[in-house]
Amino acid sequence: MVKVKIKKGDKVKILLGKDRGKEGTVEYVMAKDQKVFVGGANIYKRHVRKMGNREGGIIDLPKPLDVSNVALICPNCKKVTRVGFKMVDNEKSRICRKCGKEFK
Ligand SMILES: [Zn+2]
Repeated sequence: MVKVKIKKGDKVKILLGKDRGKEGTVEYVMAKDQKVFVGGANIYKRHVRKMGNREGGIIDLPKPLDVSNVALICPNCKKVTRVGFKMVDNEKSRICRKCGKEFK
């Protein structure tokens, strides 16, 4: 099983790419590919041709970001942090490496 440090609903800061420095909320995690979709970030314009009853034009196409290209913002200390793991009651909890607090 692949360890995923980032989960849906996490606040993250984007470290690389066109939206570097931007903050957003994780909307979807592709655990197998270690990629995440961040709301409102990494959106590319794509031209689509008119097909059937679908209008042609330009659509916004969000692209996933590599997990390594985003940094978690700790919900407790609000700082960009690295995620650690800790066993609590036989369950793996994530902890903030900066303030040491656990979070889900
Ligand atoms: Zn923290």
